[in-house]
Amino acid sequence: MRATNLYAPTLREMPSDAELISHKLMLRGGFMRKSANGMYNFLPLGWKVIKKIENIIRDEMDKAGGQEIMMPILQPSELWEESGRWAAYGEEMMRLKDRHGHSYSLGPTHEEMITALVRNEVRSYKQLPLMLYQIQDKFRDERRPRFGLMRSREFIMKDLYSFDKDEAGMNISYEKMYKAYGNIFTRVGLKYRPVEADNGAIGGGHSHEFTAISDAGESFIACCTKCDYAASDEKAELKAIIPENETEEELKKVPTPNAHTIDLLVKCLNIPIEKTIKAVAYQTEQDELVLVFVRGDHDVNEAKVLHFVENARELRMADEDAIKAAGGCPGFMSPIGIKKGTKTLVDLTAYEMKNAVSGANEVDTHYTGVNPKRDFKNVIVADIRMVKEGDACPRCGAPFTLTRGIEVGQVFTLGTKYSEAMKATFLDENGKDKPFVMGCYGIGVGRTMAAIIEQKHDENGIIWPLSVAPFEVVVVPVNAKNEDQLKAAEKIYDELREKNIDALLDDRAERAGVKFKDADLIGYPLRITVGPKTVDEGIVEVKIRKTGDIKLFNMDNYLSEVLKVLEDL
Ligand code: ATP
Ligand code: MG
Repeated sequence: MRATNLYAPTLREMPSDAELISHKLMLRGGFMRKSANGMYNFLPLGWKVIKKIENIIRDEMDKAGGQEIMMPILQPSELWEESGRWAAYGEEMMRLKDRHGHSYSLGPTHEEMITALVRNEVRSYKQLPLMLYQIQDKFRDERRPRFGLMRSREFIMKDLYSFDKDEAGMNISYEKMYKAYGNIFTRVGLKYRPVEADNGAIGGGHSHEFTAISDAGESFIACCTKCDYAASDEKAELKAIIPENETEEELKKVPTPNAHTIDLLVKCLNIPIEKTIKAVAYQTEQDELVLVFVRGDHDVNEAKVLHFVENARELRMADEDAIKAAGGCPGFMSPIGIKKGTKTLVDLTAYEMKNAVSGANEVDTHYTGVNPKRDFKNVIVADIRMVKEGDACPRCGAPFTLTRGIEVGQVFTLGTKYSEAMKATFLDENGKDKPFVMGCYGIGVGRTMAAIIEQKHDENGIIWPLSVAPFEVVVVPVNAKNEDQLKAAEKIYDELREKNIDALLDDRAERAGVKFKDADLIGYPLRITVGPKTVDEGIVEVKIRKTGDIKLFNMDNYLSEVLKVLEDL
C-alpha cells in the first residue's frame, strides 16, 4: 500500500473529547471515527488491526476444535422467552419490532440462538463435542457507553459455544478454551492475567475473566501475593476476620442524635469504625427487600448478594416505605427487630464481631454490646463483602493486592441452563434423551485493540506489537519528490513485500518530519528511511519503534538484517 492511496486522516491535536489514551490515539492516528454515542466507524488502519486480531483468534479457535459459523444479529423475542431472558435481560437489550409487530432483539449475546440452532440438528452423542463460534457485532445499550471501544453500544465479539454430552466433556472443552485464550492474548502482545470470575446473570458453573493489566481498566482483580489465587474483585472469596475475644456485654440502646451514617456514628460515639456494623437496604426488580449488614469499614458486594436472591439481575436502593414496612428505620438499621421473612444477609466478618454497635431500628438510636452470634435471628450468614487491599487470601492466608485491569475475555461453563430451558436434547449411549452440557466463551475484539494501546504507547503515539500492527514496516523516502530516493524506496518496498512483509510506502510529498511524526503516532514497528545516504552510499536506516534504536544497514544485505530484526521483535 502506498500512503498516497491510504485513507488515514491523522489529526494534529489530541482530540479533547476522549478520556483514555487508547481512544485519543485511535482518533488522532486515523484508525476510527465516532458515528454516534458508543458507536464507531473503523477506517482502513483500524480495520486492518481488527482483522489481524480476529485472525489470531480464528487461528486459535480452529486449532482448539472450533468451527466458524455466522448467526443473524436480529433475534426473535420467542427464543428469549424460552430461556426467560426476554424479561430478565433488562434495559441493556436493544429491542425493535418489524412491520408485522413481531419483537426482536439486536443480539447482545447468542446462547439462545445457538441452542435453537443445534437442538433441531444434533441428535446423537456421536456428534459431540461440538464447538461453534462466530465473530460478529453485538449490541448492548450500556448505561454509560464510554472510553471509545472499551465500552461501546455496538461492538465486535468472538463468541464460541461448546456442546458436550456430560460435565466431564464440558470441562475438557472449557480447558481447551482457557488455553486458547492464553495463546490469543499472548500472541496479540498483552500482559494479562486469568482470574476467577463471578458468572453473573448468565448462570451456570465456574468462570474466568482474562484481564489485561492496565490502570485505565474498569475492573479490579485481587491477586494473592504468595500463591497463584487470583480473582475479580466481585468474585474474590473472603473468610471471616476473627476479632480478639472479649467478654460479651449486654445489648444496650444509646442515643445517637443525627448519626445516620457510619462516619457520623464513629464521631458521635468516638469508637473505631471496625466496631460498627453498616446496613444497606436493597430492592430487586420484583421489589423484594434485601437487607445487608457488613462491618462499618467494609463494602457490600452486590454480585455476591445477588446469588442469594432469586430472579434478580440488579439491586436498587430500597424505598424508605419498604424498609419501614419491614420494621426497619433508615439510617439506624439493625437485624434485631426486623420482621420475620425479610431477607437479611450478614457478612461472615460482621457475624463474628464482639460488642459491636449497630442501629436499633429507632430514629437517633443505636445498640451497643451487639454480639451478632447471640443477637441476630433469622439471618443468612455469608461472604457478601468486597475485597480490600491486604485482605487474606482464602487459600493461603497471605495478603491480596488489588490491581486495575481491562476485561478482554471471559469463559463460562453453562451446564444445562439453556439446553434444559429450551429443550435441546440428544440421545446418549443408552438411547436416552439428555440435555446438552454447554459452555460459552467471549472475547471483545475492539476492547482487546484498545487494551493493547493502553499497554503499548508513549508520548509520540502507539507502539504496535508486530502481530497486530496495521503495517509491519513503513518505508519513508525523506524527499519523495527526489526521483532517486523514491526509486530506492520503491525497490525496498517491493523487496519487503516479496518476503510477505506487510509494508507501507510513505510516498507523500510531505516534509520528512511530518512523515516521521505520523509513523511514530500510527506506531509501525519498523521505519526504514531512504535519504541521500541511501542513494549516494547505499546506507539504509532502520528505526525500531519500540526501543527507538536506529540501525544502519548496507543496501546489499539490508533485507536479511531487517528480517532478523523483525523476528526478534
Ligand atoms: P463488562 O463486565 O465489561 O460489561 P461483560 O462481562 O458484560 O463485560 P461478556 O458478556 O463477558 O461481557 O462479553 C464478552 C466480552 O465482550 C467481554 O469480555 C469484553 O471484552 C467484551 N465486551 C462486553 N461488553 C462490551 C462493550 N460494551 N464494549 C466493548 N466490548 C465489550
Ligand atoms: Mg464478562
